[in-house]
Amino acid sequence: MKTILVTGGSGFIGTNLCIRLLNEGNRVLCLDNNYTGRTENIAHLFSCKNFIFIEHDICNPFHWDEKIDQIYNLACPASPPAYQGMHAIETTKTCVLGALNMLELAKAHNAVILQASTSEVYGDPLESPQKESYSGNVNPIGVRSCYDEGKRCAESLFFDYHRLYGVNIKIVRIFNTYGPFMNPNDGRVVSNFICQALSGKALTVYGDGRQTRSFCYIDDLIDVLIKTINSPKSFTGPLNAGNPAEFSVKELAECIIDKIGGTICYKDLPQDDPRQRKPDISLAMSALDWQPKISLDEGLDKTIAYLKTQIHLFNNRN
Ligand code: UDP
Repeated sequence: MKTILVTGGSGFIGTNLCIRLLNEGNRVLCLDNNYTGRTENIAHLFSCKNFIFIEHDICNPFHWDEKIDQIYNLACPASPPAYQGMHAIETTKTCVLGALNMLELAKAHNAVILQASTSEVYGDPLESPQKESYSGNVNPIGVRSCYDEGKRCAESLFFDYHRLYGVNIKIVRIFNTYGPFMNPNDGRVVSNFICQALSGKALTVYGDGRQTRSFCYIDDLIDVLIKTINSPKSFTGPLNAGNPAEFSVKELAECIIDKIGGTICYKDLPQDDPRQRKPDISLAMSALDWQPKISLDEGLDKTIAYLKTQIHLFNNRN
């Protein structure tokens, strides 16, 4: 049985990952400060003997006496309304100090460590699809830079720990992901549109809706995270993880309206909103034999079913 630490374990991706790792027979240490994570997500795991929840902010060092085999460093607010504005400095600290503290832990335990990086390292990309070799087009002083530059700095730290101390690192650049355990109020486009449609509100398309995103269903993402952390030490990434099927935000709204009903209203485009995002996943296909299996149509149905159970929490503020 492996002991696996998941930071950000009560967030959207973290919850799904903890459930899968427990189902596969591991012992899971779940760390979260519950800033954007939700205890409700993981409450049903508390009775599980292999599940340990520790309320902890990874900006502070973390020590554990028993052996840790693997670390998934997922902790960070990930939705633009959650990481910008008031929380921008905490976001940078979580990315940078969090990465440092988790790398020190990995070094002490000789554990393999996976960093949840992001398609945001490509900024507003000037090439499409984005390959891992693309260095990106990030505005270093914009409202998104706390997240983008924070994650870029984390990647840099990971590679320095690998080069200097031989730490077994894996970097996965996660593109837009959706599915059960999304917070209905986190403001991201899939959860916002579904919750707006379910509660009879207009779907808020920002800008003209022609900006594109590539949406990956959570189960596909969990598959690639697990494959990556168990890959040979020589495989460090960075690795793009996403579904290359690209949709405009307006197409996404229309797809959700087809399923639930509703209307569109247009709002201002947020500053520095990337115009396009589409992963080149040839590395994941060749190195890990991975590609997403779940279409947007099927994934949206599963997500709608989940968000129906959460709709009483939706406040439509984002
Ligand atoms: N968006 C939108 N309406 C919303 C929320 C988001 O039109 O209610 C747009 C947003 O401007 C961006 C895209 O949807 O172009 C994806 O936004 P999200 O916050 O989900 O993720 P991002 O990829 O920007 O981090």
